[in-house]
This record gives sequence, C-alpha cells and structure tokens, in this order.
Amino acid sequence: MTIFVDMDDVLAETYEKHIELYNLEHKQQLNISQITSGEVWHNVPEDHQLSIKDHAYQKGFFRDLKPKRDCIQVMEALYAKHEVYIATAATQFPDSLKEKSDWIDEYMPFITWQHRIMCGHKFILKGDLLIDDRTYNLEKFDGDTLLFNSPHNVGDTGYTRVNNWLEIAERFL
Ligand SMILES: [Mg+2]
Repeated sequence: MTIFVDMDDVLAETYEKHIELYNLEHKQQLNISQITSGEVWHNVPEDHQLSIKDHAYQKGFFRDLKPKRDCIQVMEALYAKHEVYIATAATQFPDSLKEKSDWIDEYMPFITWQHRIMCGHKFILKGDLLIDDRTYNLEKFDGDTLLFNSPHNVGDTGYTRVNNWLEIAERFL
C-alpha cells in the first residue's frame, strides 16, 4: 500500500506545545486534560485567543513538538512493510519546512527525503490511504482515509477514526 501520513496532531503533538506556551504567556495553568473539544484557542478567554493563533508563526514551534505516543515504532514497522510517505502542509508556515525536516531527522531518520512531502493541498497525492486529523484533507483525497482523533475533530462524522498509533498498527502491520 502507498500510505500518506500527516504530521501535526498525527505524528507531532501540537496541543501540548500550545498549552505550554499559553501558560507561560498568560501565567495560566491550563492542562491538556481540560481540552475535550475544539482547537486550543477555543478553550481560552477571547482576549487570549490571538496569542495562541500566533504560535505557529514563532520560530522553533514545529521543531519542538513531541512525537505522539508509539508513533516512532509503528512508523518504522509500517515503513518496512508499505510505501510510506509523510505528507505535511509546510507552505502555510514557511519556516516550518526546515523545522519539520529537522524533526523527522531526529525522530524518524529512517524516512528518506524522497518520502517527505512538504506540500500545500493533499488531494493531488495519489495513493491508497491518507491518515490525517483534518477532514478538509480527507474529504477530497482519492483513496481510503483514516481520521486521527483530535479534540478539534470530535464532532466530525462519516470517517473511519483511529484514536492512537497502536490502532494503526493493528490495521496495517
Ligand atoms: Mg494535522
């Protein structure tokens, strides 16, 4: 199978980083367990929302994200068995392109540069499966899709959903 895997909120944990920065910026004690739906900025007072929306423009934001639980081991096994590509929208935040490449070098060095697609739209990709947390990427993809669970997509219906990387391993390894 040719499998495309998104980065943000599929491989890399953005909520924790947003919350860490938000707590520093506004002297708050927001905890990830308090966010059960929506984007992080939906979960803070209105006059704090802009600063969260600004995080993705800060240098280092995408480089400092933690890998999601179990994703490194499962990706390595998937990579050995299938034709796996990371497909990540990097052109929205141009600094993120280098940072994402450095992140992959650190956590998933087995993924060669030919298997790193730093892109805009994903519906132009041709393959069997796209794993992504955004329905706007999945809805136009011409292949099977898996919606990776995230607080911002809890209300989205009509997609096959996975909650974690062990569920992906069960399906494809
Ligand atoms: Mg994503």
